[in-house]
Amino acid sequence: MIGLIISGLPASGKGTQCKMVASQYDLVHLDTGENLRREMQQQTPLGMEARKFISLGRLVPDNLIREIEIKMIDKFPSARGFLFDGFPRTIGQAEILEGFNKEYGITVKAFILLEVEQKEIIERIHKRAIEGNRKDDQDINIIMKRIEQQSAELNALIGFYSQRNKYFKVDGNGDMKQVFESIKTIIDKHHLTEV
Ligand code: AMP
Repeated sequence: MIGLIISGLPASGKGTQCKMVASQYDLVHLDTGENLRREMQQQTPLGMEARKFISLGRLVPDNLIREIEIKMIDKFPSARGFLFDGFPRTIGQAEILEGFNKEYGITVKAFILLEVEQKEIIERIHKRAIEGNRKDDQDINIIMKRIEQQSAELNALIGFYSQRNKYFKVDGNGDMKQVFESIKTIIDKHHLTEV
């Protein structure tokens, strides 16, 4: 089974692109953040444990994320492949995903980064915050702190996948269609969704 990772900072357009890519290449889209929220809503043991960290603005520990991913993967035994969204976010998680090769036969083909300029990211988050009335996103200091944290996480992962020749980056500054075309070009050129 194929494993593709699409990554990017908040407001990079990652969610939208993941949906489009999954549909285009017949991959199951596994959205970690959304699943965490669902587990919390349903008050499952996993969700209640995760909430302790999320409510403090911290990352959920790798062992819990591992359980979440397995729970999602198990729901799709006949999938052609998976598109991972929001996972991995740490080197520990990247190693967990490598381990899924033996356990589930998932081969990670690529880590694709949607690269959007920080200035653009901040503008998008700010705009979204005002439209959606999200107070936390209206505070520029909180936004900056989150971006810095996540940039550091991303840099570590870029290193991990570069070493394995699986790192690709896409210019995410354009509109939705342009960005999708760029992702498709990379996937097709490098045969990233072929077994
Ligand atoms: P997101 O929707 O991706 O912003 O995720 C919401 C929250 O869930 C994050 O702030 C983290 O606390 C947690 N979370 C999501 N994905 C992960 C992950 N891969 N590893 C650890 N925590 C995560």
